[in-house]
Amino acid sequence: HRPYADASMIEQSSIFLNVELGERSYPIAIGARVLSDAGLLERHIGGHKVAIVTNTTVAPLYLERLAAPLRAAGRDVITVVLPDGEEHKNWSSLMAIFDALLANKCDRKTTLVALGGGVVGDLTGYAAASYMRGVPFVQVPTTLLAQVDSSVGGKTGLNHPLGKNMIGAFYQPRAVLADTSTLATLPARELSAGLAEVIKHGAITDLAFFEWIEANIDRLMARDEAALAHAIARSCEIKAEVVRQDEREGGLRAILNFGHTFGHAIEAGLGYGAWLHGEAVGCGMVMAADLSCRLGLVEQATVARMRALVAAAGLPTVAPDLGAARWLELMEVDKKNEGGAIRFILLKPLGSPSITGAPEAALLATLAACAA
Ligand code: NAD
Ligand code: MG
Repeated sequence: HRPYADASMIEQSSIFLNVELGERSYPIAIGARVLSDAGLLERHIGGHKVAIVTNTTVAPLYLERLAAPLRAAGRDVITVVLPDGEEHKNWSSLMAIFDALLANKCDRKTTLVALGGGVVGDLTGYAAASYMRGVPFVQVPTTLLAQVDSSVGGKTGLNHPLGKNMIGAFYQPRAVLADTSTLATLPARELSAGLAEVIKHGAITDLAFFEWIEANIDRLMARDEAALAHAIARSCEIKAEVVRQDEREGGLRAILNFGHTFGHAIEAGLGYGAWLHGEAVGCGMVMAADLSCRLGLVEQATVARMRALVAAAGLPTVAPDLGAARWLELMEVDKKNEGGAIRFILLKPLGSPSITGAPEAALLATLAACAA
């Protein structure tokens, strides 16, 4: 089932997956040579004009690697370099993209290429969904989080001053090109944040993958290209399969929120940006495992394994002490709640999800045990 398990193959060639969504299906290419293979991107560009959207951090590192071969092939390449940061995932960045597209007379055949992390990917995807009612777009994710999570699944959007990701659309890319060599320049905290979502994918759907991550966490932390390629490929397969079954989040897709109910409370409780999203999710997964144990769904040993793996991935395992009342208040606003009761994605057993409520006593015990 997985021909890419052979490390020597990975260094030489790319892994190709397909996200099966009927007429919106698209390929994902993963490997250390994806950006050097100019033909790979070229193949997914229909019109004469290409607009590459990136930011001030990624542009000096990778923009020319992408733009030069396209120009050499005779394409008209427009570049939009946005300021870096979650605080710029906003209306004015979106307008900067539209301004550049209109000023350069980009038509409906222009392909938008998102080169960067999840911020650039989400913004560019939304710009592509709405520019002239929809133009093709390609994701070139350059953070681990974007390669294993945000570039796959078709959620695009931006933040409103009153709420994160409140404006958006489901809009699938034409292709996702994930070059593992770009991860060499990623700050360590960002690498760890991406690993949280990788661990999540194993924990909720695939015990064998979870065990592979446990066995290879040191290689992943050392940015071993073959290990990263495998982790990215398996994560994309898992996310793509969940999205295939539930593209618009009617049900199953909620399992991707494992660790996120606690995680969102940490992010909001400390103020967004204090912890990275992946850091909050890492700690949130330990808390969700602890709660699973208190409800009799997993053994104590599973909680210990989760805590050890999250720690080995360089992520926090002890939650901030927000006070029980504040914790409950923050979790009650979580998006997937229906009728006021907090619904958790728990483990039953490790490697499969269970969506359930929890008695307040068990929840309070988890908060007491996990927060300091
Ligand atoms: P990010 O886009 O802010 O990137 C993190 C940092 O790394 C930034 O400073 C960026 O400039 C820098 N960077 C990117 N690539 C680099 C590289 N190769 N080398 C060095 N630095 C590099 O953050 P992220 O974690 O990639 O994405 C987070 C965003 O993704 C959030 O806005 C979140 O809402 C969104 N998201 C979306 C989905 C989805 O399904 N669409 C899923 C998860 C997260
Ligand atoms: Mg997440």
